[in-house]
Amino acid sequence: MLQKRDVDAECDDFRINVVGQVAEVVPRNISEVAQTYQRRAGMNPTESLWLEYALDVLTRGGGAMNCCVSGQTDRISRWPGYLGPDYASGRVLLVGAVHNEADMDATPEVPAIGDGAVEWINGHRSDSDYLAMLRVEYPRAINFWCRNGGGVFRKFTEIRAALGVSLGQCAISNIAKCTAVRGSKKYCESISACPLRFPLTDLIALLDPVIAFIACNDTNARIPGVGSTSTRRVYRFQQLNSLEYATKRRREVWLREAADFYRTAIKRPRAAI
Ligand SMILES: [Zn+2]
Repeated sequence: MLQKRDVDAECDDFRINVVGQVAEVVPRNISEVAQTYQRRAGMNPTESLWLEYALDVLTRGGGAMNCCVSGQTDRISRWPGYLGPDYASGRVLLVGAVHNEADMDATPEVPAIGDGAVEWINGHRSDSDYLAMLRVEYPRAINFWCRNGGGVFRKFTEIRAALGVSLGQCAISNIAKCTAVRGSKKYCESISACPLRFPLTDLIALLDPVIAFIACNDTNARIPGVGSTSTRRVYRFQQLNSLEYATKRRREVWLREAADFYRTAIKRPRAAI
């Protein structure tokens, strides 16, 4: 998926061409989308595309037990994230920085999410069962992180409240798909290394969010090409103090603007697939 090919002028969908560090969104051949439908029977278009992305994250290179920073691990170390069942009506993308090892170790739902992913990529769990498992376990894990974690999910909850959307209307991911091993240096390395394999622009192109929020303090985060357009707003804020990354605007300022934009923009349908 999302490979560099010639542009087909007749299609409605898109793909990504990566030119250096800049990703451009270009039309995608409709037959490619039709093939994805066939592989993902019973899934809606966004679910089909997201499952292809998740499979890529879980299987590429060293597979699910491989981490960009620490190499081979003895347990699953890459995480595609979450796609809500009502994403099509919300189209909100929430992006954290890195999966924190201490938080992951402490989260009761993580073993089930990891086991479910391994069963799915090995063909022992169907697409619909994998998505259903994520949609049960992730909300519970997020509830745990809101109570016990570093606070980013509390901020995402407040953002959702300002926009008036449920968790089920959102997709969630991290800049780095890997779990960063303990230590702040590794945390920085993950944010820099992992997006070389899994650019955030790929996920944005396939999910076509109306609005995206990226929580990351780190200047090393490799997210080139991720920015606002005429139909999409991207807000990056510092997780520790909620200041907008580039402008240093306070959260009440940028979140009010974001909510105003979202209320108007969500009424526009996404391009037909
Ligand atoms: Zn990685």
